[in-house]
Amino acid sequence: MSIEQRRIVRTEIPGPRSQELHARRQREVPPGFGITLPVFVERAGGGIVVDVDGNHLVDLGCGIAVTSVGASEPRVVDRVREQAGRFTHTCFMVTEYDGYVEVAAKLNRLTPGDHEKRTALFTTGAEAVENAVKISRAYTGRPAVVVFDHAYHGRTSLTMAMTAKQMPYKHSFGPFSPEIYRVPTADPFRGTGTETERFMDVLRTQIGVDRIACVVAEPIAGEGGFVVPAPGFLRQVSEFCRENGIVFVADEVQTGLARTGDMFAVEHEGIVPDLICTAKALGGGLPLSAVTGRAEIMDSVHVGGLGGTYAGNPVACAAALGAIEAIEEQNLAARAAEIGERVLPRLRELAGTVPAVGDVRGRGAMLALEFVEPGGKTPSPATATAVARYCHERGVLVLTCGTYSNVIRLLPPLVIDFALLDDAVDVLVEAVRKVAG
Ligand SMILES: *Cc1c(COP(=O)(O)O)cnc(C)c1O
Repeated sequence: MSIEQRRIVRTEIPGPRSQELHARRQREVPPGFGITLPVFVERAGGGIVVDVDGNHLVDLGCGIAVTSVGASEPRVVDRVREQAGRFTHTCFMVTEYDGYVEVAAKLNRLTPGDHEKRTALFTTGAEAVENAVKISRAYTGRPAVVVFDHAYHGRTSLTMAMTAKQMPYKHSFGPFSPEIYRVPTADPFRGTGTETERFMDVLRTQIGVDRIACVVAEPIAGEGGFVVPAPGFLRQVSEFCRENGIVFVADEVQTGLARTGDMFAVEHEGIVPDLICTAKALGGGLPLSAVTGRAEIMDSVHVGGLGGTYAGNPVACAAALGAIEAIEEQNLAARAAEIGERVLPRLRELAGTVPAVGDVRGRGAMLALEFVEPGGKTPSPATATAVARYCHERGVLVLTCGTYSNVIRLLPPLVIDFALLDDAVDVLVEAVRKVAG
């Protein structure tokens, strides 16, 4: 059942069948669940999503950085089928299975650093981040957690407090967890260039370093707008943590597993985090997340302190083993780097001629355009929305993001056919010229 890897627009998008199904959804599902493109999916694979009206959309979103290996990669699908046929669940806290241990062993080997490591598996990215905080607090005996501007760490109570953006993530959902402190990130586009000093100053004078359990950082801010911190910033942050007995946690839920051209984005600066959170691409489309880290930190939690009914579900573990195999066998980290090399120059050229493109940034297959009012840095969310709509109507699925909702982000499957990718970028370039040129 291979899917033709070509953009095909048969109807208006969303088409009549999608519109019908969406009307039903609106009667059955609360509007709190937002929607990027109200199109119902029939199947998906490679770089294509086929909708129920027969349109072939080019997927530049991967269901938010999840289906890096494609949405129906045989190495994933076959293992899922095989595992589901034997058993779907035992609860790893009740009886054991080797798939869990195998995923743990793989992550212990793949993550940066050759020290002794352990991995605990969970289900969602937010759950991994929450557990990294729990583990850091248990290890240090300290309460405080430091996070950054533009941060996104999830939608649960604790991770919502750690997330920066008010609307839509936090609005009306407080009160929030205490002992969360936010510092500026070294944002090369909007920052001051003094963020490293500010970071150390706030930690020393406002929080107190001996009260800080962990600093949690995304190597590239995801939902916050694909903000790539200035070179050296995260390395200095991680060194400050080491000098002060603070656990440095890399939230690689979006950046991890080959997305940025390295297996993990922190490798770009040679940083070795104490703990590293993964999810999104890990399960090849099935819900699976992990905290991997130094054995002495991971082992500091009392027996029974970590877990979850579905944590490390066997079918999700089987999918992860297939996804990791697909990433390694096809060297998808190198493929992600190639995608960046192919697309970035085109976006930079566009920025050079269209003043509404304020910034172009990213690494590997995690790329973004930030839109501004021409002549300054005032965010223009309306431009991002209009560009996205133009792309959607022509069968190119792009996502927006950013603290100011003015960023278009590209997260293509790492296996995407290059001709298909070029075609989708043609549409994006045309969209920007038409909407903002
Ligand atoms: C998506 C994301 C999360 C939350 O993951 P969920 O699976 O949605 O809970 C946490 N951190 C980062 C960096 C993310 O991109």
